[in-house]
Amino acid sequence: TIPAVNGDFYELGKTLSADEREIQLKVREFMEREIKPIANHYWSRAEFPFEIIPKMAELNIAGLTYHGYGCLGKSALLEGFIAMEMARIDTSTSTFFGVQSGLAMGSIYLCGSEEQKQEWLPKMQKLEKIGAFGLTEPEVGSGAAGGLTTTCKRQGDSWILNGQKKWIGNATFSDITVIWARDLDDNQVKGFIVRKENLGFKAEKMEDKMALRIVQNALITLTNCEVPESDRLQEAKSFRDTAKVLRMTRAGVAWQAVGCARGAYELALAYTNARKQFGRPIASYQLVQDLLVTMLGDLTAMQTMVFRLSEMQDSDILKDEHASLAKVFCTLRMRSIVDHSRELFGGNGILLEHDIARFVADAEAVYSYEGTKEINSLIVGRAITGHSAFV
Ligand code: FAD
Repeated sequence: TIPAVNGDFYELGKTLSADEREIQLKVREFMEREIKPIANHYWSRAEFPFEIIPKMAELNIAGLTYHGYGCLGKSALLEGFIAMEMARIDTSTSTFFGVQSGLAMGSIYLCGSEEQKQEWLPKMQKLEKIGAFGLTEPEVGSGAAGGLTTTCKRQGDSWILNGQKKWIGNATFSDITVIWARDLDDNQVKGFIVRKENLGFKAEKMEDKMALRIVQNALITLTNCEVPESDRLQEAKSFRDTAKVLRMTRAGVAWQAVGCARGAYELALAYTNARKQFGRPIASYQLVQDLLVTMLGDLTAMQTMVFRLSEMQDSDILKDEHASLAKVFCTLRMRSIVDHSRELFGGNGILLEHDIARFVADAEAVYSYEGTKEINSLIVGRAITGHSAFV
């Protein structure tokens, strides 16, 4: 008999409480039932399946770790498992959700006033309002900490924003985009809730991506875009506050990498048992088993690493370098696992219908976003050596 395909070899999911496990399995069932059958269709057309939003809302998992505002106040560990379950089937879906629940809601949760939280978080928790997060610019990616060129200037009760933002996920259709801009007067980075109807706000879809094609990324142009003072994030006083949001979400990206790798491993395990050459399943050959075991070893190391990472987050002892190490290690191993999996599919590995081609492509985006390998390595390097290599 062929054993069940399961990438959780050390049974980490079983350590969750009954209540948490139920939420994890509900998300798994949703991803398998609603997303798996449609992912390749939308991916190949680079379109977003808007019909999934109300169904995803029923899962009641947005802003999972936040307290109040309709959010459940659950553990970072459970949130990690959710990110993994989503990416295990489709990394675009987990990215859409991560932008909404982590980057956009997180900016308001960590940096908004009480009124701003009351106004936006309950609706965003129900996915009735969709958010985006605008930090990266056409000429400023890794160097966002000191280099933002988008500006804001106070004018009476309003602020005037000018500049461009690139790669902004969900922003072609989001109701609000959190825009980070440098104040021309005090030179500090401030955050703004920019509504899609604000005059001077233009979001154009970025075309021809080869990864995460379901995610709608925008090039945003702000031309004398007027934002009322009441929509400035009241607790965002400098880039340190922006960094607080990124610290929280970087652990989630490591979990996404684990999900993408786990999906790729499970696809390979199922395929190699089904595919026969020389009269036997290819899974019965030694070289194939060696590759599968290499993948499983990496995957298991990744899972145990992010498991501990989230425990540290829940104990409030997580530092930037902890999240950065997990992001570097897990995205590197993810790349290797999706490549091995594709290899085991032979020619079928480049056909979208077998799913793995989408995983290989999508892994490239996860590898680069929310801090590249180099930038996260430098964060860890600074912590362990005491020398900053950034300057
Ligand atoms: P660059 O910063 O130009 O880097 C290019 C290369 O140079 C990299 O290999 C980098 O590691 C290396 N490098 C740079 N500086 C150093 C250094 N000091 N030492 C050594 N090497 C260095 N941004 C948002 O604000 N919101 C979003 O919603 C969002 N979504 C995204 C979705 C996708 C699919 C992608 C691909 C990106 C998204 N981004 C988003 C932007 C993303 O965070 C950036 O792409 C990322 O931070 C890297 O910046 P960059 O692409 O400009 O690369």
